[in-house]
Amino acid sequence: MTSRESIIRLIRLAVVFLVPVISVRVSADEYLAGIVWEEPPIISPGQAGGPPSDAIVLFDGTDVSAWDNADHWKVEDGAMISGGGDVRSKASFGDCQLHIEWSTPPAEGDGQARGNSGVFLMAIYEIQVLDSFDNKTYFDGQAGAIYKQTPPQVNAMRPPGEWNVYDIIWTAPRFNDDGSVKSPAYMTAIHNSALILNHYELKGDTPYHRAPEYEKHADRLPISLQDHGNPVRFRNIWVREIGAAKGEQTRAPFILNEKGEERPANAGE
Ligand code: MG
Repeated sequence: MTSRESIIRLIRLAVVFLVPVISVRVSADEYLAGIVWEEPPIISPGQAGGPPSDAIVLFDGTDVSAWDNADHWKVEDGAMISGGGDVRSKASFGDCQLHIEWSTPPAEGDGQARGNSGVFLMAIYEIQVLDSFDNKTYFDGQAGAIYKQTPPQVNAMRPPGEWNVYDIIWTAPRFNDDGSVKSPAYMTAIHNSALILNHYELKGDTPYHRAPEYEKHADRLPISLQDHGNPVRFRNIWVREIGAAKGEQTRAPFILNEKGEERPANAGE
C-alpha cells in the first residue's frame, strides 16, 4: 500500500466512524422551551362527526331545549326545521369550534330564495346556508360565504335533500374599552371535508344593506340560526369552547447537552 493509498484509507475510516460520532454528539443536544406546560385535557373523541366528550350538544336529533324561540321550529326525523323566526342558543360562546349539519329542501325558487338560512356566530356574523347546488347567486352570498364579505374558496355543495356539514373554527373579535377593535374575528371553515375559509379575517358584521362594521359587544354571545322563509333542516349541532394550550414561561429557552450542561438557545443556532 502506498502512502497515498494509506492516507485515503484513513480518510475513509474517519468518514465512516467519526461522522456518525459527531452526529450523535450533535443530536444529544435537546432544545427546551423553558415553559412548564399543563397537560392537555384528555377527552374522548366520540364517533366520526359526533360530539367529543367535552362538547356542548345544542341539538341531538330530538330536543330543542338548548334554543330560544324554537317552539315554532318543527322537529322531524332527527332534524330541526327552520320556520317561525330565528333561533338562538341559550348558551353563549366566544372562541369555539362548531359542528353543524344542514340539508336544503327540494329545489324551488332561484338564487337567494332557494334553501336560504344561515349560521350566525355570536348572533352577528353569518356564514351563509343556501342551496348552492346548481343555483347561481352572487358569490359572496352563496353557501359557505361570509355574507357580503367573501365567497367560499370552493363550492362543495351536496344536492338538495342530502346532508351538508360545516366544521367551523371561530375566533371572536376583541374590543378595547373605548369600543375600538383590538383584534378582528377570524373564521376557518370546512364544508363537507373541503376547506372553504382559511383563517378569514372578518371586516365586521354581515348585513345586506350596508358595509360591514364592528360594534363592541360581549365576549360571549349565542349562536343563532336564521329563518329565511325556507324550511332548512339542521341536525347534530355541537360546540366546543377552545383556547390555546396553557403553560408558563418559567425561564428562557435553553439547550441541554448529554453531559447535562445548559446553554442559552439562541435563535437560528
Ligand atoms: Mg342567509
